[in-house]
Amino acid sequence: MQQANEDWLARSRKAVWHPCTQMKRHESLPIVPVARGEGAWLIDFAGRRFLDGVSSWWVNLFGHANPRMNAALLEQMNTLEHVILAGFTHRPVVELSEQLGELTGLGHAFYGSDGASATEIALKMSFQYWQNSGQPAKTGFVSLHNSYHGETLGALSVTDVPLFSATYAPLLRQTERVMSPDWRLAEPGESAEAYALRAAAALEALFKAKAGELAAFIVEPLCQGAAGMAMYHPVYLQRARALCDEYGVHLIADEIAMGFGRTGTLFACEQAGIRADFICLSKGITGGYLPLSAVLTTDAIYAAFYHDDVTRGFLHSHSYTGNALACRAALEVLRIFRDDDVLAHNHSKAAAVAADFARLAAHPRVAHARQLGMIWAFEVIDAAPGFASRLFEAALTRGVLLRPVNNTVYLMPPYVVTIAELQQVFATLQALLDEGLR
Ligand SMILES: *Cc1c(COP(=O)(O)O)cnc(C)c1O
Repeated sequence: MQQANEDWLARSRKAVWHPCTQMKRHESLPIVPVARGEGAWLIDFAGRRFLDGVSSWWVNLFGHANPRMNAALLEQMNTLEHVILAGFTHRPVVELSEQLGELTGLGHAFYGSDGASATEIALKMSFQYWQNSGQPAKTGFVSLHNSYHGETLGALSVTDVPLFSATYAPLLRQTERVMSPDWRLAEPGESAEAYALRAAAALEALFKAKAGELAAFIVEPLCQGAAGMAMYHPVYLQRARALCDEYGVHLIADEIAMGFGRTGTLFACEQAGIRADFICLSKGITGGYLPLSAVLTTDAIYAAFYHDDVTRGFLHSHSYTGNALACRAALEVLRIFRDDDVLAHNHSKAAAVAADFARLAAHPRVAHARQLGMIWAFEVIDAAPGFASRLFEAALTRGVLLRPVNNTVYLMPPYVVTIAELQQVFATLQALLDEGLR
């Protein structure tokens, strides 16, 4: 069976161009061939089991091969798999749009196929709103330092991760960056709240100088995932909302990673008590089953496109817009949230392992230990270059799949993870730190 693993690995290296990867590194770094999934676990061709500590890139909510998700999809597959959404509609897309509207307080759900396309849609809609509203100078976008909003060219323009964007700089639009409220960057003695307010003051200064040229401010609410689970105080979002209102700039909440319960509430913005002008959803929306994204907005913004003139409409499309199977998966996700009281269970799971995580947090090699909903993260203060791939490999041999971001170790498991499994991950990390893995 080990042979089967080797075969798939070799064939994958030859035929598949893996994402976000210098392929040459796979001469030494292993690719993990996954034969099947079961709950929070991935299983290779030799029967080795790995706890999916990254929810398969932050998308899986209720486990792999979930029987309820499977049944819903099978039923949908036998009814309608897909139909063009221009000029046509269908039951899953209508029901999903209604439910997302109720849950977000926004409406007019527009669909794309992945997170980056949701970012593109929100940016284009905001830009066109101002065009349609007689304010053509408002064309600029603002994002936070260390922001991540996807990697197509428009999304990459508001993404601040030089590793991903520097190569393409000549293709990207100039956009504004403002100070991140990430509390790891606070001065000694400065509270997370005080730091967030200081960051909000920087946003205000920018708005004061340039609001006339700005269409929108895009932000990952409460936690900048790709920045290394950079968490911040919700007061920042409250100030950002107030400033966007005062200066006439749209607020785009990119809940692609943080939505669907990840931060402890269904949507992260709820914890700040704010409603954005646009919300971008993807990743967990289908429980990790199928690619789907959605952008919802306000009635006022929608109304600015509603006109006899065709070109004032939002003439944007993707072939798989509103895919029936993906929408049905999303409906089942929302049903599971309701039926199983998922948010309350997640809350009690996190509370049950709080002492275990506190022990890890007290480790002398650990800094900035933090937890929000179903995310646990910390920095390893003495990590050497290459730490992320060494920890990845070491954890893998102990049955845990983790992908640190530089020296930030994080755990973001499917919600079906058990208390014992969480404790197992913390114990594994404790052992690796004790052994001096750098
Ligand atoms: C993953 C992510 C995206 C991009 O989504 P893709 O489906 O990978 O294109 C955008 N914004 C945030 C916050 C993300 O985490």
